[in-house]
Amino acid sequence: MKDSPSYDVIIVGAGASGLMCALQCARRKKRVLLLEKEHQCGKKILVSGNGRCNLTNAFVCADDYRATPQLAEKILAQFSFEQCVNFFHDLGVLTVQEGQGRVFPLTGKSTAVAEALRLACREAGVELKTESEVVRINKKKYFSAYLQSGAIFTSKYLVLACGSKAYPQAGGTESGYRLASSLGHSIIEPTPALCAVCVKEKAVARLQGIRAQVRVNAWPQTEKQLSSAGEILFTAYGLSGPAVLNISGPLGKALAGGPVTLYVDFFPEIQEKETFLRKRAAQFGSRTAKEFFAGMLHENIANLLIDFAGIRKNAPVSNWTENTLKNVAKTLGAWPFTVMSLRPWNEAMAAAGGVNCAEINYNSLESLCCDGLYVLGELLNVDGRSGGFNLHFAWACGYVAAKAMPEE
Ligand SMILES: Cc1cc2nc3c(=O)[nH]c(=O)nc-3n(C[C@H](O)[C@H](O)[C@H](O)COP(=O)(O)OP(=O)(O)OC[C@H]3O[C@@H](n4cnc5c(N)ncnc54)[C@H](O)[C@@H]3O)c2cc1C
Repeated sequence: MKDSPSYDVIIVGAGASGLMCALQCARRKKRVLLLEKEHQCGKKILVSGNGRCNLTNAFVCADDYRATPQLAEKILAQFSFEQCVNFFHDLGVLTVQEGQGRVFPLTGKSTAVAEALRLACREAGVELKTESEVVRINKKKYFSAYLQSGAIFTSKYLVLACGSKAYPQAGGTESGYRLASSLGHSIIEPTPALCAVCVKEKAVARLQGIRAQVRVNAWPQTEKQLSSAGEILFTAYGLSGPAVLNISGPLGKALAGGPVTLYVDFFPEIQEKETFLRKRAAQFGSRTAKEFFAGMLHENIANLLIDFAGIRKNAPVSNWTENTLKNVAKTLGAWPFTVMSLRPWNEAMAAAGGVNCAEINYNSLESLCCDGLYVLGELLNVDGRSGGFNLHFAWACGYVAAKAMPEE
C-alpha cells in the first residue's frame, strides 16, 4: 500500500448525518469519500415525516433526548435550531413551521431535503458511491474500508454514520454496530423506539383510525415515571401516535418483565373529572348516554365506554347511579390498555441503544477507543422523541464532527 491514503475522510453511510458530515468536510477542503450500501442516498430522509420530512423542531433541547442527554446537550450547543433552518435555507430549501415547533420543507416533500443535500455534496466535491457496502474496517496508520465488492479505500479519518437497525426497508441495519465493535466499542443492546404497541384488548379495533389528544401513563408499573401527552392514534392491533411513540423505548424495556398497563387520560386538562361529569349530567340529565357523550367524545369511543362501563344505552343520564358516574369518570381519566409487545423493527422509526456514549468525546464525537474515528447520529445511544428531534440530532452530529476534525 502506498504511504498516503486515497482520501482524507471516508464516511460510511449516506443518510442524514453522513450527508451533512460529507458536505461540511468537503467545504473544509477535505477529500471525502461517502459510501452508501443502498442504490440511493438518504432513504430514511425520504420516508421521514410520512414523506414530508419533519427536519427539525423550534423547541429542540437536550430534554428531548433519552439516554445520554448530556451528549445531546453538547452537540445541540454547536448546532442550534436557527443554524439548522439557516443551513437548509442556504441549500435552497424553503421551510414552514407547523404546530409544536415542527419544521417541514415548504414543498411538503422530503425529496426537497434529500436532493438539496445530494446536490450540495456533489457541488462541494464529495465523491459518493452508492451500492457500496462497507463490510470491514482496519486501522493501522490509516483506515482501510473493505467493500462487499472487494474494493478497498484508505483514509486518515473515518466516520461511522450507519444509522440504527430500525426500519430495514429504508436502509436500517446492524452493520454500524458490528463495525463499531470491531474498532473497540461496546454496544448497548438496541431496542425499537418510536414504535407503536400491540394491546391485549381486541375491542381496540373498534377505535381504529381515531385520533385524540390525551395523556398516557404507564407508571407505577414501570421503574421510572413514564408519562407522555399528545396525540394518540388507535389502530387495528393497538396504539400509536406521538403520545405512545414517545414512551415506546422505555416501554419496550419494561415489557421484558411482562405486559404493562397503559392508562389513557382522555381529558388531561380536566383535573376534577367527577365534578365535570356531575355538572354535565345536571345540564343534560334527560339525554341518553350516547347523546350525553356527543360533543365531548368521538362516537366510537363513547360506544365502547358505554359497553365498558355497563351503562344502559337508552336510559336517561339522570338514572345513572353514583357508582356509574364514578366509573365513567375513572375510565375517562385512566382507561387501561394492556400492552403485550412493541411492533416489529420494520415499523420502528428509531432505535434506543447503540454505541456506548461513554466511549465517545461529547464535544467532537471522536471515538475514545480509536483515534481518528467519529461516530454519528442514530448509531449512538441517543434517541429523540417524535417531532423532528432525531433528524436535528443527525444533522448536528454531522456538522460537529466535520468541525472537530483537524484542518488539512
Ligand atoms: C418511517 C420513519 C419516519 C421518520 N420520520 C422522522 C421525522 O419526520 N423527523 C425526524 O426527526 N426523524 C424521523 N425519523 C428518524 C430519522 O430518519 C433518523 O433518526 C435519521 O435518519 C438518522 O440519521 P443517521 O444519519 O444516523 O442514519 P440514517 O439516516 O439511517 O443513515 C444511515 C445510512 O447508512 C447506510 N449504511 C448503513 N450501514 C452501511 C454500511 N456498512 N456501508 C454503507 N452504507 C451503510 C444506510 O443504508 C443509511 O443510508 C424517521 C424514521 C423512520 C424510519
